[in-house]
Amino acid sequence: MDYLPIFADLKRRPCLVVGGGEVAWRKTRMLLKAGADVRVIAPELNADFRRAVQSGEVTHFADEFSPSDLDGIFLAIAATDRKAVNALVYQSANQRQVMVNVVDDTQRCSFIVPSVVDRSPIIVAISSSGRAPVLARLIREKLEATLPQHLGRMAEIAGRFRARLAKTVMTLSGRRHFWEQAFNGRFSDLVAAGREQEAEHELQSLSLKSEPQGQVALIGAGPGDAGLLTLRALQLMQQADVVLYDYLVSDEVMELVRRDAEQVCVGKKAGFHSVPQEETNRLLVEYARQGKRVVRLKGGDPFVFGRGGEELEVLFDAGIPFQVVPGITAAAGATAYAGIPLTHRDYAQTAMFITGHQKPDGDQLDWSTLARGKQTLVIYMGLMKSGYIGQQLISHGRAPETPVAIIERGTQQTQNVLKGQLHELAQLAQHAASPALIVVGEVVNLSEKLHWFGKQEQQSQHTAVVKLA
Ligand code: SAH
Repeated sequence: MDYLPIFADLKRRPCLVVGGGEVAWRKTRMLLKAGADVRVIAPELNADFRRAVQSGEVTHFADEFSPSDLDGIFLAIAATDRKAVNALVYQSANQRQVMVNVVDDTQRCSFIVPSVVDRSPIIVAISSSGRAPVLARLIREKLEATLPQHLGRMAEIAGRFRARLAKTVMTLSGRRHFWEQAFNGRFSDLVAAGREQEAEHELQSLSLKSEPQGQVALIGAGPGDAGLLTLRALQLMQQADVVLYDYLVSDEVMELVRRDAEQVCVGKKAGFHSVPQEETNRLLVEYARQGKRVVRLKGGDPFVFGRGGEELEVLFDAGIPFQVVPGITAAAGATAYAGIPLTHRDYAQTAMFITGHQKPDGDQLDWSTLARGKQTLVIYMGLMKSGYIGQQLISHGRAPETPVAIIERGTQQTQNVLKGQLHELAQLAQHAASPALIVVGEVVNLSEKLHWFGKQEQQSQHTAVVKLA
């Protein structure tokens, strides 16, 4: 982050504008809007300035700038067409630790002024850090169009009601829930329609309703790329009081969780210390019973090899309301990003998903069905058992030359695809790191043409595999 966005309170603070033309006036108007005490320095003032000086809004401080004019100044803006003057303002301000902005000269700015969408008291500031002002302007136009005009009025009324709410709704999470309901519901509609008295009544009656019951949302976070989250997942993640997540959920996705939500890692990873399932179940019930909105975030889809069903059974037994938001399972996400269609009319009429990680009482898989030709087999958690899986498939009839792919970290920036043939699956797996998905079937060959994501890496990896084979 090149700049720290801050909102400065300029009311009655002395601010210096050097320059008396059109640009200087625009900056002055902005400072006046924020209530600043503006002093202007210029040998000549344009008509707007002259009017403002006459009415006492602005003080004409001097004709020529000298460094001591900055004494006692909070911030300064230089907007003259004389380079040397602008440079002197910048240099003198820096020496005095006064914030300074030389218009259209990012090199000579200790602060820059963002584009603003003003729905006061709601203010949105946008900046491209001086890199792409047009892009910042386009973003501002988008926000202007999407942020309703009544936002400001809504915030004003809400501000007045806060103290009263604290007396009726005791818990922090209860109050947050209250506001979310208000801002998303009838209160908002009433303010938009200009019916402000009724809107205030609406707040009152909402605040007398009982406190919310805790609930759990079991959410699929997809295979890693945050762009693959569903809108529902995002909404719930941003309303959550607490989020219980697995190690498989990517950092990119976790970034989108509400900042103030409590985040609890209940990760499971083969061979690593992790929270036992019973403890996760217990936490889910405990948090929900505290009236919290709990998000249980799982990699991929929660109902595909994710024990989501088991967790919901526990909630059902405890009488806790829940909902499920599906996610893109690794078999769909990783193969799509690797350019491997799961089915194809010429090569595979069936796709099967299995896990290499069985319950301890052993393998219940029907190998002769799994080994049939013209189908795609996708193996989750298969790296450790890859040797056994390859042997079983071959001994039950699948051709040893069947193409296989191992997709590491599918859909993530570091995605990597290893390719070879079924008889060398174990050898390939030795070079792969978890999380990785194994795909067996002729459709793997299509990735030669169809791969599109992280193209460069994929090609170089492919050469590595050829050497290996
Ligand atoms: N519920 C998850 C699967 C959990 S099992 C889902 O629907 O995707 C964990 C296994 O999923 C991993 O061992 C790996 O085989 C696979 N997996 C999950 N995310 C992956 C990713 N980004 N790339 C490759 N494989 C992944």
